[in-house]
Amino acid sequence: MSTVAAEFGALYGAAPDGVWAAPGRVNLIGEYTDFNEGFVLPLALPHTAVAAVSRRDDGVLRLHSAEVGGGIVQLDVETLEPLSGASGYGWAAYPAGVVWALREAGHPVTGADVHLASTVPTGAGLSSSAALEVVTALALNDLFGLGLSRPGLAVLAQRAENAFVGVPCGVMDQMASACATEGHALYLDTRDLSYRQVPFDLTARGLCLLVVDTRVKHALGDGAYAERRAGCEAGARALGVRALRDVPATQLSDALARLDDETVRRYVRHVVSDDDRVERVIALLDAGDPHAVGALLTEGHASLRDDLRVSCPELDLAVEAANAAGALGARMTGGGFGGSAVVLVAADRAEEVAAAVGKAFAEAGFAAPGVFPAVPSAGARRVG
Ligand code: ADP
Ligand code: MG
Repeated sequence: MSTVAAEFGALYGAAPDGVWAAPGRVNLIGEYTDFNEGFVLPLALPHTAVAAVSRRDDGVLRLHSAEVGGGIVQLDVETLEPLSGASGYGWAAYPAGVVWALREAGHPVTGADVHLASTVPTGAGLSSSAALEVVTALALNDLFGLGLSRPGLAVLAQRAENAFVGVPCGVMDQMASACATEGHALYLDTRDLSYRQVPFDLTARGLCLLVVDTRVKHALGDGAYAERRAGCEAGARALGVRALRDVPATQLSDALARLDDETVRRYVRHVVSDDDRVERVIALLDAGDPHAVGALLTEGHASLRDDLRVSCPELDLAVEAANAAGALGARMTGGGFGGSAVVLVAADRAEEVAAAVGKAFAEAGFAAPGVFPAVPSAGARRVG
């Protein structure tokens, strides 16, 4: 953190008013459920975006990223505007979009100097973008005394990403980064944003949750999100419910029998069953039986692979190789078509499983995956 403050000093010629941190996240279970007003269970990673920030009152917004390097991006808060098509702001659209969203909502943000540095891998499905947005939002909330709640900040950060950056993401990433706590997973109801911290202390249970970053992103994924979303909405309409979240798992077979379209039927089966898996995972965690969660992860993967069809060969291989090497269970996490998988494994077998996945990737001719433990960590906070 002191490095980030020192870098800020070198860039802007004075010490920052403060330093804040916000984590990336990984989703344990509940995939493609958030735009169906359903349930998700993410946890915060130890990897964080850190922001050294000073407030300004002259309308000037200056932004810098240690990872991007180059010069300072200077903007005028009054003229910030979502640009149609590809954002001309580049990476700066994420923090600038937060300033824009806050001002749009009537909050008096009159400028800032910002220096960001992040350890969240980018584009790996671990929400480096949400970490950037949430850390900016929290810093501005404190410096301008806005008094916004954590969910309030998350919603504005999501608005920045949807309307300013132009990415149609749900609210899970920002909620996880803003609201998660150490040693817990965040049980989030995406309909009303109510949430509960679910104990997920893996170390105490002799368990380890590995993240396998496949380091690939298939172009196929680009239109798939919108297509799955439209299919789910068609399913909800056909079933006469506001969202698929309103179809109880106990009535799934009846619901499926009422759907003519084979694709829509598969999507509905995934969403309703994954909402149900979230509830079953939580019941296991509340009962102090995290080992049994593994089987539900693997079941969730099969549903994403076969019904929603958003997996890819690298993700399938990560899951298969981990399970063959003795993992308790594994699934792809995030939007799919690349990105990361999560693997639940006994702590004393974690290295063996990680090595087996690496070996399987090498044999398949895939690039070496990045593998690291996902220790459930703290959400956004002031650190200096
Ligand atoms: P993910 O959120 O899964 O990592 P996204 O595509 O949503 O992937 O967000 C990645 C983008 O966020 C990057 O392309 C970059 O524009 C921005 N970003 C993330 N981290 C940084 C950083 N440290 N500095 C500048 N931009 C960043
Ligand atoms: Mg993102």
